Amino acid sequence: MISASKKVRLILELRQGGIFDTALLAAMEKVPRDGFVPDAFRDRAYEDTALPIGLGQTISQPLVVAKMIEALSVNDRVKVLEVGTGSGYQTVILSHVCRRVYTIERHRELLRDAEARFEDMGRHNITTRAGDGSAGWPEQAPFTHVIVSAAAPDIPQMLADQLAVGGIMIVPIGDERREQRIIKVVRTETGFDVDDIGPVRFLPLVTGMPDVTKQDGRAEA
Ligand code: SAH
Repeated sequence: MISASKKVRLILELRQGGIFDTALLAAMEKVPRDGFVPDAFRDRAYEDTALPIGLGQTISQPLVVAKMIEALSVNDRVKVLEVGTGSGYQTVILSHVCRRVYTIERHRELLRDAEARFEDMGRHNITTRAGDGSAGWPEQAPFTHVIVSAAAPDIPQMLADQLAVGGIMIVPIGDERREQRIIKVVRTETGFDVDDIGPVRFLPLVTGMPDVTKQDGRAEA
């Protein structure tokens, strides 16, 4: 099957999975997921599954990306902070449905590849940073919308603190042993409202930067 019809099938699967936001579905139809995966996985790019991207990381499952972005309730007037750029797949989708995306990745090598894709795809409303995203992006705070692409053991406090009142953060909480849940955090005048959106499976949010002296080779994943 050629990739156009595989992509149409994926969009149908997203609808069947409960995604109804038409702007989001249109964005996901526009974004060529086969441009975000290593050659060896290109023929599986439109399967609704996570796939390895090197350094032990994965490109997220499309239905999970869609559910998290839908829960974030964005529109083309807002800026979004994304933690965990990875391949940049979710970043590019966000760049179609938001005004600007600030994205942070701790693996410089993954970030370089993602930046090349943003350039190739002509996405000029994405600002990148290599670093530990659990510290957020204080110079750009407060944020009305924050999305975290790796599972944290608890709600990351520094990210919650960078939310504007009324701001929303979508973050997977849990670890390899516990079941992970997608959590929606909304900042109120007096504190935070927390909502459980459903189960999910993510790689861990890791604090600090990778140790370059024992750089885990890209070939391993
Ligand atoms: N949505 C991405 C998912 C990538 S996997 C995609 O579809 O490609 C999660 C990413 O989060 C990995 O690239 C990992 O390196 C990154 N990550 C984990 N902890 C992080 C942290 N504290 N700061 C920044 N990035 C982090």
